[in-house]
Amino acid sequence: MTDRDLSGRVALVTGGSRGIGRAICRRLARAGAWVAINYSSSEEAAAETLAQIRADGGGGGIYGADVSSLEETDAMFLGIEADRGPVDLLVTNAGIASFRDDVDMPVELWRRILSVNLDGTFHCVWRAREAMLARGDGRIVCISSINGLAPSTLRPDRLIAYGTSKSAVIGFARNCATAFGPAIRVNCVAPGLIDTDMTKDMSDEMRRRIVESTPARRTGTPDDIAELTCFLLSDAAGFITGQTYVVSGGLVTLP
Ligand code: NAD
Repeated sequence: MTDRDLSGRVALVTGGSRGIGRAICRRLARAGAWVAINYSSSEEAAAETLAQIRADGGGGGIYGADVSSLEETDAMFLGIEADRGPVDLLVTNAGIASFRDDVDMPVELWRRILSVNLDGTFHCVWRAREAMLARGDGRIVCISSINGLAPSTLRPDRLIAYGTSKSAVIGFARNCATAFGPAIRVNCVAPGLIDTDMTKDMSDEMRRRIVESTPARRTGTPDDIAELTCFLLSDAAGFITGQTYVVSGGLVTLP
């Protein structure tokens, strides 16, 4: 028994091979969940997440799927169901951002970002909800971003698609919370700047400006996001649904 007991639960974390997703996988496993670690291309990194979970005394499995593909997402769910039964806890974390330096945003880039960040979230939630509704119990956390709440002033032209996709994820989660309650709780977590592969190419100057504007005066860690996610999936958050929580060291505040 842990402070957030998830034992006996099957969790799926998309994009669980590294960064925030890996930290969430490890946290959920420490709370007792059996964790399906989704990866799109890096099987080796997903296997490393699983090795870390096992070293912590937990259990899980790795499942490849590009979540922007409905067919691959369905096949992933079928695999998890065959191995461990239906998914009880879903974290839609897989996401991409473009930090390209050119000003233009080609339409292909717009479509790819929307396809992974928004369609990928939709595919997973839609597939998970069937069994959750049938059993009258399911918990979902969608990983959005502060860019889904406040447009970036640093490089707005290049983050338009990203910010739009993350705003849409918040709207999608709210609608799902209303449509699927009381059986399924759906919440969003909106991280600020977190040190992961996604942000490693950011210039030192940009990072410095963000940290200076952040009341906590630091960037976040994947564990900062994992802790809240674990709480939202637990019984302790039983009266919380349809909400968005910002974890940004105070950089963005909700009214
Ligand atoms: P990351 O790039 O390290 O991890 C992203 C993960 O998503 C990787 O495991 C990647 O393989 C996976 N992924 C990408 N496309 C996929 C696809 N089509 N199918 C399946 N998996 C796919 O980045 P991260 O910082 O850990 O990001 C995790 C989530 O947090 C993303 O949704 C991101 O938008 C969000 N986020 C990150 C930050 C930050 O500052 N790092 C801030 C706000 C929100």
